[in-house]
Amino acid sequence: MSCFEIISNDSFARTGLLNTAHGKVMTPFFMPVATKGAVKNINNFQLQELGFDCIISNAFISYLKPGLSVIDNAGGLHKFMSWDKSLFTDSGGFQLILDQFIHNISNKGVTFKNPFDKSIELVSPEKAVLIQNSLGSDVAMCLDHQPLFGKSRTDYLDSAIRTIEWAKRCKEAHYSNENKINKNQLLFSIAQGGIHKDIRQKCALALHKIGFDAVALGGFGIGEAQKDMYSIIRSVKKVLPENNFTYIMGIGSPLELINAVSNGADCFDSNYPMRMARHGKIFTSNGSIDIGKTKFKSDFNPLDNNCNCFVCKNYSRSYLHHLFKTYEQNAHIFLTYHNLFFISGLFKNIRISINENNFNNFKKNFVLNYGGKK
Ligand SMILES: [Zn+2]
Repeated sequence: MSCFEIISNDSFARTGLLNTAHGKVMTPFFMPVATKGAVKNINNFQLQELGFDCIISNAFISYLKPGLSVIDNAGGLHKFMSWDKSLFTDSGGFQLILDQFIHNISNKGVTFKNPFDKSIELVSPEKAVLIQNSLGSDVAMCLDHQPLFGKSRTDYLDSAIRTIEWAKRCKEAHYSNENKINKNQLLFSIAQGGIHKDIRQKCALALHKIGFDAVALGGFGIGEAQKDMYSIIRSVKKVLPENNFTYIMGIGSPLELINAVSNGADCFDSNYPMRMARHGKIFTSNGSIDIGKTKFKSDFNPLDNNCNCFVCKNYSRSYLHHLFKTYEQNAHIFLTYHNLFFISGLFKNIRISINENNFNNFKKNFVLNYGGKK
């Protein structure tokens, strides 16, 4: 049985339900990233209050610290984090391409330098899956090979071929007897291929034929043009069944999100809203503002006149500008809350408008008011 059921279509946009062991999640949805087991500057109870029914944590980071035995003793990652809703884990493929970790990539897997004890270790596709099995997340992601942006076509082709081979091994490990812990865990693969349509399509189709609960798209949000991303989403969807749950990894700006939804995307994850908040970049219904700018020093309006979050109800731009400029930690807490309230509200409205067959109108007005800025 498919883990994903489509409820309503409006042009290419659609609403649906993702079924996980910890509940159903209405799509399209956005997952805040809890890299180290927490979303920065906001707690899990606030996330639930904001309407986030699903978050994503990083398996590789959890494996390094605090380590699998601590999380196992806690009763799994859900209990350790005190999160009883749906939870994805990323295999770590994205982290492993970062210079601070990477040592070598071969067909065997990724060899990395442990930043804590400087030891050299191999993460094989099998190991990436077994780590996630042990953590007990609802959705595990295959180890993929993601080249950095701007590499040659040959590099993208090689990485797509390697990603397919690794995905086969991930699936074998996932269904092996070694995985006794979480038989309800879904396994998604990740199509690579950069902005090369033919490579992306071949990779996605090969992964689909191997058989996964969904084929996601990785390798975005690292420098490609937005229009190329949307065109890749559309071309990959052409070769996959309509009910393939379309998870676009690594994007999180309001305009990218709404445009990706209009091209048929169902799910996203990114640290963008939280990272922007820490840099004072605030989403508002009239576009983003930079709260650190001097012009807000004596501006006693809320961040966004159209926002009902507790920050906008209680604090002025002037006060938040002051907290931000004086490095007061509450600035990050308040600004993160507002940005996530904005994203959560955006998705609620997106889902309503699709169900009412009014998505294109909603999107047109949103984009018009938000302006061309990210
Ligand atoms: Zn607000």
